[in-house]
Amino acid sequence: MPASDPRTIYLADYQPFSHLLEQVELRFRLDPQATRVTTRLHLAPNPERPGKQDVRLDGEDLKLISCSVNGEILKVVPDATGLTIAAARLPSGAFVLETEVEIAPAENTALEGLYMSNGMYCTQCEAEGFRKITFYPDRPDVMTRFKVRIEGDLPVLLSNGNPVGQGEAWAEWEDPWPKPSYLFALVAGDLRAFPDRFTTMSGREVDLNIWVRPGDEGRCAWGMQSLKAAMRWDEEVYGREYDLDIFNIVAVDDFNMGAMENKGLNIFNSKAVLASADTATDDDFARVEAIIAHEYFHNWTGNRITCRDWFQLCLKEGLTVYRDQQFSSDLRSAPVKRIQDVLALRARQFREDGGPLAHPVRPDHYIEINNFYTATVYEKGAEVIGMLRRLVGDADYARALDLYFERHDGHAATIEDWLKVFEDVTGRDLAQFKLWYTQAGTPRLKVIEDWDKGRYTLTLEQENPPTPGQPEKDAKLIPVAVGLLSPNGDEVLPTQVLELSEAKHSYVFDGLGARPIASILRDFSAPVIVEREVSVAERAFLLAHDKDAFNRFEAGRSLCKDVLARMIVDGAEPLPELLEAMEALAFDESLEPAFRALALRLPGEDDMAATLFAAGHVPDPAAIHAARDALHLALAQKLRPRLSVLESAMHVPGAYAPDADSAGKRALRLVALGLLARLDGGAAARAAFFDAHNMTESFGAMQILLEIGQGATKLERFEEQWRDDRLVMDKWFAVQVTSAKPEEVAGVVRRLTEHPAFDLKNPNRFRAVFGALTANHAGFHEADGAGYDLLADWLIKLDRLNPQTAARMSTGFESWPRYDIDRQEMMRAALERILATEGLSRDLGEMAARMLARA
Ligand code: ZN
Repeated sequence: MPASDPRTIYLADYQPFSHLLEQVELRFRLDPQATRVTTRLHLAPNPERPGKQDVRLDGEDLKLISCSVNGEILKVVPDATGLTIAAARLPSGAFVLETEVEIAPAENTALEGLYMSNGMYCTQCEAEGFRKITFYPDRPDVMTRFKVRIEGDLPVLLSNGNPVGQGEAWAEWEDPWPKPSYLFALVAGDLRAFPDRFTTMSGREVDLNIWVRPGDEGRCAWGMQSLKAAMRWDEEVYGREYDLDIFNIVAVDDFNMGAMENKGLNIFNSKAVLASADTATDDDFARVEAIIAHEYFHNWTGNRITCRDWFQLCLKEGLTVYRDQQFSSDLRSAPVKRIQDVLALRARQFREDGGPLAHPVRPDHYIEINNFYTATVYEKGAEVIGMLRRLVGDADYARALDLYFERHDGHAATIEDWLKVFEDVTGRDLAQFKLWYTQAGTPRLKVIEDWDKGRYTLTLEQENPPTPGQPEKDAKLIPVAVGLLSPNGDEVLPTQVLELSEAKHSYVFDGLGARPIASILRDFSAPVIVEREVSVAERAFLLAHDKDAFNRFEAGRSLCKDVLARMIVDGAEPLPELLEAMEALAFDESLEPAFRALALRLPGEDDMAATLFAAGHVPDPAAIHAARDALHLALAQKLRPRLSVLESAMHVPGAYAPDADSAGKRALRLVALGLLARLDGGAAARAAFFDAHNMTESFGAMQILLEIGQGATKLERFEEQWRDDRLVMDKWFAVQVTSAKPEEVAGVVRRLTEHPAFDLKNPNRFRAVFGALTANHAGFHEADGAGYDLLADWLIKLDRLNPQTAARMSTGFESWPRYDIDRQEMMRAALERILATEGLSRDLGEMAARMLARA
């Protein structure tokens, strides 16, 4: 069923732009209220579009000052979305179209286009923000060379490419690489550089800078180190070298996303680049490293080769996420990274894929493209690449990537182009594999086992559930990595990738002495939900013996989920076998601490709600919360005799270092402290708080205390100490909501929105409070519906200022179909109320309509 909204854009309607754009010159005269932008477009007819064509330029909220063709003034009147110049008014052949517009960056609260943040000018153009700067063919398949002149009385004036000239209050930049408008960037302000240098593999010297507000220079070293590591890694692993003389990163406090890969001038949410021991946690450090790498890797996967249209977004995002995951995996612990990625995939992408917002990795229609920067496009997009690599093998993956860079460098490509390089390299037909890109929904993989006189039969059956607009699906090609263990724990069959291409298939393994124990979907070889009857004994066996680290984790996880589900639904007691297995794991010194920390953390409440719903139950948020609490207590009691020993063994002495090993120890120590707090009233956590010498420890200990209803004075002191630090204060806002008791959550949120430092215009601050509201599962879903009302009220308020962030935060409602009728009705009413709001943005409007199944 196609969407009925007249603003819907379809993949099937793609047409190349009417003209070729040979070059563009931009001149900015900066002013907070009245910036003037002069644009000279060097246009020529496009032979692919025969006949004389009109020129249609995109443009929104622009005050047109003048327009001329080849120097002759043209009288034109823009409409709400752009400017058309009729073919009849154009010369035949090439011509120069010049426009001048006026914009007001200081009034721009949407943070799209040219805006101001703390007195500094900056831009955000992906996906369609350039049209808020000037009239332009604002589409990724129009790639051209940019020359930029910036005039403004500010010490630092930056744009893409290489600097070619500067003087009193002006600077000029030229980018030799053709690029689409979404990669344009401009920054101007009173900034300080944290400089460094990098020599590329062919000996090119590159100047590196991280630009920050005065005072933040001391938080740049980690980002710089991560950048150099990423540059080296891309050379060594993908053979990709940097291609300009200078690479700039700028930190800004007001930003809708994590960061942006503008050519040679990456712009970062300061949260995603600044880090120091006393202000950032280990998780922050790891995130900074990953995001710096992600944006850097886009230089090849996204910038040199870009997307033909926005339906192909996963072409750059899926591949770049895949690359940054590999990078982190190489720098840190591969199994731990894989587990973290799968946990995040399940929490966000499976949730999306199982609800009203489900869409294919490559969508085929949209109303607002900003709504498709999703876990499906990014994270499932990365999983699809991992599967492709499993299917073709490492060597052919490398050959295919080389061919991809060779064939498409400098062009705007499609998913068809991407798959074609794999087909050409391997000779395989990937038509069935392509369904992963075009069909939404998480496949279910049913596993049936049979043992008969030395013959083991493994039957795999796939089921592809219906999703919005896609009631029926074909069988996918699913790579299922399988290993078989003998009862004594030896591997009788090392990992093999079975290619399930039919709805159902049986695999026979002969000549086995004893019934094997199967380890299925090793390393999470495909983004599917496994359905398999496994005994507690078998799970415990795999947890103890599996050679695949991911499946070892998974065995414990699924056992834990089974036990929790029974506690929630039947009021069962915590299963002793589970507690014993977790105890063995907690103290198994052959396992790395980070792995143990992950394995000891109980599944989240939202995860349990999804699991119960999938098993045919109506999840009760309060019951889930209570059962999880009870299991935590039981685990603490079981581990009690050795928890203090574990806690002190994981103490990392000496100066703080953010490396993976130390971080893993700190993580396990905090898990131990969290369990101890349920037994000792918080004594150990309090001691750890006073003894802390970095943010990981002090914030971790404070969080534990807040979770057991203590720590109020620490919260006050924390506020006093950090009141002027926006990033640290975001943590202060968030932790109060995430650690509040369910019945207190709405009150805490209301109080925080009245705090003088609450700022609706700052996306990080909004997310700190309202992201935490939806993350507190039992609190958000309190039976009186207060959480729903609060979120709806504030989304409506935010939408007037910042539609993009309002739309993204509305996904708090996407899981409404899981719950009981009362909650369903309240959530639907909240969405209806949003939808009925006058002047609602296209962004939030599309989201609400899709969640209500009306688009
Ligand atoms: Zn990206």
